[in-house]
Amino acid sequence: MHRNRPWRLWLVVVAVCALLCCLRLILGWPFLGHEIPYLAITCATPLMIVTGILIHRPTRPAGWITLAAGQVLYAVADTIYDFDLWTTGEMTEPTPSDVLYLSSTLLIGAAVVTFIRRRTPGWDLATGLDALVVAISASILSWEFFIKPVAGDSELAMSEKLTEAAYPILDLMLLILAIRLVLRSGGRSTSLRLLLGYLLLMFAADTAYAIVGLLGGSNTSEPITSATWIVSLGLLGACALHPAMRDFDSPSRIAAPDATPARLTMLTCAVLMVPGLQLGEHLAGRDVDVPLTSTACAVMFLLVLARMAGLVAAQRRAADTDALTGVRNRRYFEEALATECRRAARTGYNVGLIMIDIDHFKRVNDTYGHPGGDRVLREIAQRLSSGTRAGATLARYGGEEFIAVIPHISAADLSPLAERTRKLVADLPVAVTDQTLITVTASIGAATAPGPLAEPAELLRAADQALYAAKSAGRNRTVLAPEVHRPAPIQG
Ligand code: GH3
Ligand code: MG
Ligand code: MG
Repeated sequence: MHRNRPWRLWLVVVAVCALLCCLRLILGWPFLGHEIPYLAITCATPLMIVTGILIHRPTRPAGWITLAAGQVLYAVADTIYDFDLWTTGEMTEPTPSDVLYLSSTLLIGAAVVTFIRRRTPGWDLATGLDALVVAISASILSWEFFIKPVAGDSELAMSEKLTEAAYPILDLMLLILAIRLVLRSGGRSTSLRLLLGYLLLMFAADTAYAIVGLLGGSNTSEPITSATWIVSLGLLGACALHPAMRDFDSPSRIAAPDATPARLTMLTCAVLMVPGLQLGEHLAGRDVDVPLTSTACAVMFLLVLARMAGLVAAQRRAADTDALTGVRNRRYFEEALATECRRAARTGYNVGLIMIDIDHFKRVNDTYGHPGGDRVLREIAQRLSSGTRAGATLARYGGEEFIAVIPHISAADLSPLAERTRKLVADLPVAVTDQTLITVTASIGAATAPGPLAEPAELLRAADQALYAAKSAGRNRTVLAPEVHRPAPIQG
């Protein structure tokens, strides 16, 4: 009972935060009344993150500590900003709070990068390309609506322009990181959802704040904007207090679902956004930055083409690969054998074929169950793959049968190669469970044919007969079929 108590803290935070948000929206208090609920949650957020770290003790706390540090800067920035507004109401940029806000966003970005890198070790090209498409589209919008008006404002000093432009750029960075976090595979724990909620609401509130500012409104006292900030910070606190924070960023073992409807919808919106903007500006009779928008459209088009090429290649690979063992499948092998025989017939080199059948494999399944049998098949496939020479093609031909076609091999060389292959299986025990090693053997039938006589069906028949002979002779042995010969002409 006592152990469960901290687990509920995150719900309390969500409730308190909803209450603060309602207070902020409903009560038309003077300035301090506006800001007190907001400042309360701002200052509580780093404390909630530290409490989460202490209670749940995440395996790698670096991301959380960086996040807490970012929120400390954010709370100090908010306090200075409010104090400035309250005392003077005037600020020239960059103020100390600007510097602290921007630094805090950088730290939050660094924390999210730490989470992403841990969840998805290695470089995922498909997700990188998708995030780039969204980044380009969002950058053009951000440039058009937020940065260009500031850059072109002759009344602003350069330092003010840079400060004003830094906010949308860093917000864009957070948006892209949020997309990168959600696009990749892995469990969607409550903590991950809360973190995403925080990032997206923070982006929405910052954007609303900038829009109100651009429209000439008093963005400092917008109740909806600051209510959204309150909710977003509450979600971040709840995220850190939820028990799922402990390992929500542990490396994902689930393969990325590459082209889900949600991902395609997001890409479609991103790709259509820039031409839409171009058309909208044109219809409204405003100047369109044609070189910029056309370049952005062209780059996004090329990125989408690259994604399509990647998807087609992945589909092709999946169609040629055996799902259990990762080696080629029978369909691919039959095409490879036919190609090899045609080539050998043209150029005259010898083709060799070896068929490998695991001995008494049914017993493995009967004793250790199907998962044990699968594990043995994967291990044997891996050993055979590592022993396959360059130019040869190895495949899983049936349940516990593997096959390899080897070009440029004489009958004299094929026999020792087949024997080495048999030893690859038999010489080292195989782990059938984490605790049990067993000895597995295989019988091998090998056949070879000179180029002009290399015929897939003939080679397969000869190797199959040799394999049958190896089984009949007691298993765990190699039998070489007599070389395929041209049938003698019938004497009249
Ligand atoms: P032999 O020495 O005569 O080859 O005996 P065997 O038991 O290996 O021969 P058989 O071909 O009769 O049995 C093969 C078994 O392989 C039967 C089937 O249940 C099992 N098997 C086929 N595909 C799979 C698979 O994907 N996973 C597992 N675990 N077993 C499979
Ligand atoms: Mg068999
Ligand atoms: Mg068998």
